[in-house]
Amino acid sequence: MRTAIYPGSFDPITNGHLDILERATKVFDKIYVTILVNPQKKCLFSDAERQELIEKSIEPENKIIVTTFDGLLTNYAVKVEAQAIIRGLRAVSDFDYEFQMALTNRKLNDSIDTVFFMTSEKYSYLNSGLIKQLVMFGADVSQFVPDIVEMRLKEKFNR
Ligand code: ADP
Repeated sequence: MRTAIYPGSFDPITNGHLDILERATKVFDKIYVTILVNPQKKCLFSDAERQELIEKSIEPENKIIVTTFDGLLTNYAVKVEAQAIIRGLRAVSDFDYEFQMALTNRKLNDSIDTVFFMTSEKYSYLNSGLIKQLVMFGADVSQFVPDIVEMRLKEKFNR
């Protein structure tokens, strides 16, 4: 059984995240999409809202489980018996941070590897922060996020 965790803020989930997830489902048998609860990071959506948006954006598939977690990711990986951490790579700008995180996690637990999936180029410049700004200024983001996410974003910004 090949199990992995796909951790992130997912504030909110975008088509870029879904692209990575779709690629990862071809490689792993079970994937925990894990919202990392970080009180220092100010999020637009609550943990529960982010979880709901992810659940409503994916096909009901028993290989994907959406969870939240606070603490050390490697401890969580051990708990759910995952062998890998999934991360997405967009541009070179992601590399430094991802390299540091991957090596830190390896130091903490050498038996868990970080696996990177390359996004499709049409989502390579996308991130949740950009989407929030676009909606705030009234732009149409329908090609970047699932319908439910677009709806909730508009509600948040009274658009
Ligand atoms: P974090 O705050 O941990 O970066 P994010 O929700 O921003 O969490 O991202 C989670 C993971 O998804 C990261 O590995 C990130 O690189 C990846 N990701 C986010 N947006 C995209 C995208 N448009 N294409 C590919 N990967 C992405």
